Amino acid sequence: MASSLVTTLPWLGQDFEKNLLVWYDQCQRSLPWRQTKDPYGIMISEFMLQQTTVATVIPYFHNWISRWPTLVSLSKATLDEVLHTWQGLGYYTRARNLWKLAQVTTEIPSNRNDLLKLPGIGPYTASAIASIAFNAPYIPVDGNIHRVFCRLWAKNMDKAEMMKLFTVPMPIASPSKFTQALMDLGATICKPKNPLCNQCPVSFHCQSFKNKTPEDYPKKMPKKESPQHHTIAFVVRDSEGRLLLRRRPDQGLLAHLMEVPNAPWREKVWALSEAKSALAPLAFKNLKPLGRVQHIFTHLKLIVDVYGADIDHPHDYKWESPEKSALPTLMRKIIKKGTSI
Ligand code: SF4
Repeated sequence: MASSLVTTLPWLGQDFEKNLLVWYDQCQRSLPWRQTKDPYGIMISEFMLQQTTVATVIPYFHNWISRWPTLVSLSKATLDEVLHTWQGLGYYTRARNLWKLAQVTTEIPSNRNDLLKLPGIGPYTASAIASIAFNAPYIPVDGNIHRVFCRLWAKNMDKAEMMKLFTVPMPIASPSKFTQALMDLGATICKPKNPLCNQCPVSFHCQSFKNKTPEDYPKKMPKKESPQHHTIAFVVRDSEGRLLLRRRPDQGLLAHLMEVPNAPWREKVWALSEAKSALAPLAFKNLKPLGRVQHIFTHLKLIVDVYGADIDHPHDYKWESPEKSALPTLMRKIIKKGTSI
């Protein structure tokens, strides 16, 4: 148990856990997914919290649980309904995976290895669900927990390396509380900048505190410059105010979501005539420039020049109500530019 860890780094021991949990009992954050012991609610929260802040997730979580309170109810939803409910939360693969997961199981397994077999569940999510929902002795390494351990050990370890270290069961008495306490410690006390070490319940165990060097850990990696891509998008409405939309392919970025006509994304800036040709047989007329939209994806910055236009024939596109369509934030930004037309 935890042998690789014990031989490479000192485990922090029972007093560490005791001090942490006394603090957690008094100071834990009140979060809606902590009002339940239901593994389904805990799993939904863990999917939603990936790459997204707690404040953003809370209303989505309430909405989701009131709409689909169980895995069985989720299994009966269409993918469109799921994507529509997820709209605005970003990283739509998470929503697609939750929907797929509901198609393949009616029960969330308690075993970490069984969790890993389900769609969208990687090492982090498996450890988080196993420990929080089923009290299994695993530590999920998110950004907060990674920072806390780097500082406790005064060691710059990358996240993947730490995650590997914690794939084995750890000597923890109360795993569910322990994991959530570590998450709260990272979010409220051991913050990235100006950690509140004087209020920290585990400062006695913290090597970087002793060395007066907490902010040296974890070492910041220089940010990679995101490549910049370009497109031209066309906002076209019919006489009833419906939008010309089509569904994106089932694979790739923004898969299965709706989009307005837009030229393929590429590094080279598009000329208007060239973008029109790329979207043939759609024949745009009465073109009106509406401005520019920028959107940042994880590894990509997209610049969109937006035009209003009319057409005579929709071809592969359809006239759809924007309120009823699963539109990603990028498309909503583009459409907003065209609200005056
Ligand atoms: Fe983080 Fe400071 Fe606590 Fe160490 S003492 S774990 S650096 S808050």
